[in-house]
Amino acid sequence: MWKTKSGKTEKTRLELCDLCAGTFAESEAVRGYVPDSSSVNASNDWFDGLRLITACSEPHFAIMQEIYRYRPFADEELWAAKITRALTTGPPVLTIEELGCRTGLHVPEIRRAIAWHNARLGTRGRREP
Ligand SMILES: [Zn+2]
Repeated sequence: MWKTKSGKTEKTRLELCDLCAGTFAESEAVRGYVPDSSSVNASNDWFDGLRLITACSEPHFAIMQEIYRYRPFADEELWAAKITRALTTGPPVLTIEELGCRTGLHVPEIRRAIAWHNARLGTRGRREP
């Protein structure tokens, strides 16, 4: 049983606020999509580039919208996420053309995404002297 803000108790699933990590009843969730080039949907590529935000209140949802409003949207990052999904789900991808079919990307986009991904790998974990 979960006591809601209105004082009622209900048997429900709990949600976690993406901003404050507070828990609340699923029925009180404020949800919406924000642009995010690092996000791809596991089952529906229509939602690629959008992240579903769950917040405990309208003010916390508005703050999350502001945070994502200033996050750079990089096409290469989105393409890299689509490639990662194709390479980690379903049958193995053997050629760059197959990868293009599975992702909906053209070969130059795949090459740019790989370069972007590799450049990020090269800077991650590097320690300053
Ligand atoms: Zn919150």
